[in-house]
Amino acid sequence: MKSYDVIVIGAGPAGYVAAIRAAQLGLTTACIEGYRNKDGEPALGGTCLNVGCIPSKALLDSSDQYHRLLHTLPTHGITAGNVSLDVKAMIARKDQIVRDMTGGIKQLFQANKVDWLQGHGKLLDGKVVEFTPHKGKPEKLQAGSVVIATGSQPIEIDAAPLDGERIVDSSGALEFTSVPKRLGVIGAGVIGLEMGSVWSRLGAEVVLLEAQTTFLAAADNRIAREAQRQFEKQGLEIRLGARVTGTKVTSRGVTVSYEDDKGQQTLTVDKLIVAVGRRPNTENLFAADSNLLLDERGFIHVDDQCQTNIPGVYAIGDVVRGPMLAHKGSEEGIMVAEIIAGKAGHVNYDTIPWVIYTDPEIAWVGRTEQALKAAAVPIKSGTFNFAANGRARAMESAVGMAKVIAHAETDRVLGVHIIGPMASELIAEVVLAMEFGASSEDIARTIHAHPTLSEAVREAALSVHKQAIHKAN
Ligand code: FAD
Ligand code: AMP
Repeated sequence: MKSYDVIVIGAGPAGYVAAIRAAQLGLTTACIEGYRNKDGEPALGGTCLNVGCIPSKALLDSSDQYHRLLHTLPTHGITAGNVSLDVKAMIARKDQIVRDMTGGIKQLFQANKVDWLQGHGKLLDGKVVEFTPHKGKPEKLQAGSVVIATGSQPIEIDAAPLDGERIVDSSGALEFTSVPKRLGVIGAGVIGLEMGSVWSRLGAEVVLLEAQTTFLAAADNRIAREAQRQFEKQGLEIRLGARVTGTKVTSRGVTVSYEDDKGQQTLTVDKLIVAVGRRPNTENLFAADSNLLLDERGFIHVDDQCQTNIPGVYAIGDVVRGPMLAHKGSEEGIMVAEIIAGKAGHVNYDTIPWVIYTDPEIAWVGRTEQALKAAAVPIKSGTFNFAANGRARAMESAVGMAKVIAHAETDRVLGVHIIGPMASELIAEVVLAMEFGASSEDIARTIHAHPTLSEAVREAALSVHKQAIHKAN
C-alpha cells in the first residue's frame, strides 16, 4: 500500500494550505481533491477560489466600478457618456481570475512536491484513506496523519428548490448572464448581502427576505443599525421577520410566499437566490468502522487543536465548528501541519476577523458590545465617524464609523467594529493589536499617517478616553 506522512482530503483554503505547510516541513504529502469547474476541468482551491471569496469579490469590484461611474464620479466633476454594461465580459473577467488563482495553487503544489490526487477521498479504519480517481478503481493509501478539509456546501430548502434557472444558490448567482429586473434573495446573511449588492449595483431591484427579526445579529448592534440604514438608502430592500414558506416558478418569474408578522405575503421576482447558510460536507467521507465522531450539528467533532476523536486524524475549515471563513480554515491548516511535524501549532480563535464586502464594508474582530454586556464585562468604548476623516471625504466615501471597545479597568482591547471604506483592510491593524494584547491607549498613541482612513481607527481609540481630536468628546 502506498503511504504518505500526511494525506489531506479537500483542497480549499483549509486543505491546500495544510498540504503546503506540511510539505514545507518535510512531510511527504498528498492532497485529494475531486472538484471540477464549470468547464469540467479538475481545479484546486475549493469553494473559496472557485465559487466563493474570489469570484464574489471580482464581481463586487466590477459592479462597484460601474456604480461609481454612474453615481459617484459626477460628484468629482467627471461624467461619461454612453456608459454600457457587458455582463458576459464581467463574468468572463471573473472566470479568468478564478482560472489564474486555481492554476496558481496547482503550481504551488508542484513547487512544494504535494501530490494532487484527483478524485474522491474517504477515511477508512486505521488512518487508511480510500482514493477513487475520477476514472479508475479505488486505491488504498496509508497515512501517518489524515487532515479532513472537505468544506461545506449551500443549504437547500424545500420551500425554494433550486432549478438552476430561476432559483439558484450562491454559485448560480455568480453566473447570471444579464441583470435581472427584480431579484429576490432568501437570507440577509453575509453571502445574501454580497450577492444582493452586486446585482443591485448593476441595476436590479433587490428584496432580501430574512427570517430573523434582527439584522446582522452577529455584528455589533450599532454597526448593524448603520449597515441597515446605508443598504436601504442604496435601494436594497430588507424585509426582516420574513420566513419563506414556498415558491412557484412560472414562465414569467418566481412567486415567493413568505410569512411575517402581518401574515402570509408574496413577492414576485425574475430570479431568486437562496442564501440561507451552508452545511458541512461529510457524505460518503468516512466508513462506519472508522468511528469518526460528528457533533450534534453534523460537523466533525474536534478539539481546540482540530484533533478528531481518532488520534492522528484532524479536521479543519468549514467542516468543523467555528466561523465559515477562508482564513479561519487556512490558519487551522497551518496549525495542524505544525502539530503533525512536532511543532507547537496554535490558532487564536479570539482574533479571527470577520468581513462583509458590501459598500460600506463591514469588518470586526473580537466581541460585540452586546455580548460583553451580556457577560457583565465592564467596558468603555469610543467611536469615530468617517464623515470627519479627510481621506474618506477625499474619496467621496465618508460613511460609517469605527468603534473600539476596551475593558473598563485594564483598557485591553476586546473588540473593534468598523463600517466604512476599506474596512476589510483597516481591520488588520487591530487584529494585530489584539494579537499583541494591546490596550486602546496603545492604538491611540501609535502614529498613523495623514490623511488615511486608519486615522479613524486611531480616533476611535482616542475616543475611548474622550481624547479624540477631530470630534467633540
Ligand atoms: P472548501 O473551500 O469548501 O473546500 C473543500 C474542498 O473539498 C472542495 O474543493 C471539495 O471539492 C473538496 N472535497 C469535499 N469532499 C471531498 C472528498 N470526499 N474527496 C475529495 N475532495 C473533497 N470566506 C471568507 O473568508 N471571505 C470571503 O470573502 C468569503 N466569501 C464567500 C463568498 C461566497 C459566495 C461563498 C459561498 C463563500 C465565501 N466565503 C468567504 C467562505 C469560504 O469560501 C469558506 O469558508 C472556505 O472556502 C472554506 O474552506 P474549506 O477549505 O474548509 O472548504
Ligand atoms: P448566513 O448563515 O450568514 O449565510 O445567513 C443565512 C440567513 O438566512 C440567516 O440569517 C437565516 O436566518 C436566513 N434564513 C434561513 N432560512 C430562511 C427562510 N426560510 N426564509 C428567510 N430567511 C431564512
